[in-house]
Amino acid sequence: MLRLQDSYLHKGKRKALVKIIREKGIKDERVLDAIYQLPRHFFFDSALVSHAYEDKAFPIGEGQTISQPFTVAFQTELLELKPGDKVLEIGTGSGYQGTILHILGADVYSIEYQKKLYEKTRKFLDRLGVKFNLFQGDGSKGLLKHSPFDKILVTAGAPIVPNDLIRQLKIGGVLVIPVGDRSSQKMLKLTKKSRTQVVKEEFDSFAFVPLLGKDGWK
Ligand code: SAM
Repeated sequence: MLRLQDSYLHKGKRKALVKIIREKGIKDERVLDAIYQLPRHFFFDSALVSHAYEDKAFPIGEGQTISQPFTVAFQTELLELKPGDKVLEIGTGSGYQGTILHILGADVYSIEYQKKLYEKTRKFLDRLGVKFNLFQGDGSKGLLKHSPFDKILVTAGAPIVPNDLIRQLKIGGVLVIPVGDRSSQKMLKLTKKSRTQVVKEEFDSFAFVPLLGKDGWK
């Protein structure tokens, strides 16, 4: 299908996008290379495909969005991924962020709340030949059955840091989560130093769609 063809023009646009993201402060060359490698236009509906290399979030159906490339790069950089890390992504959405984690060698578990979006993305990733573990459900509760995780990444805006996510992190593990109100969230990086000690670092503000579910917005 036409949408899954990658051309020199697309590669050129990705190179320009990587330059923009680099200028905004992303330093991790592996993350920048993954953004360059992965055709973002594959993850777009055909009506919006001409916008795929703008550094912006776009609708993907069900009232949800594919995150801005800078945001994907920022969150991924904060995770400090090592190949083989077992990573839980909360908010599969289009599957773009999960595929970036997969390219970086992570063992990806990704959970999506919206049933229709989960089905659509599962079929799409299958067609793309990208294989990681997809689940449908409330990621604000984590994914107990497959825990503990080295890293947890939340790609929707949360009102609080869910305790279940801290519990499901390994010692030494990292949780990256945007927390705030419905319109603006601070990006947090929480490192679990021991069973009882968590170190919190705070970064810039972002605007995500809301995290729903038990520890999300009602
Ligand atoms: N990571 C996605 C991508 O690469 O396209 C973008 C994610 S979008 C900004 C946020 C996603 O989180 C939406 O698809 C939304 O349905 C999902 N979401 C919201 N609350 C959730 C929850 N409790 N559990 C799992 N997914 C949730």
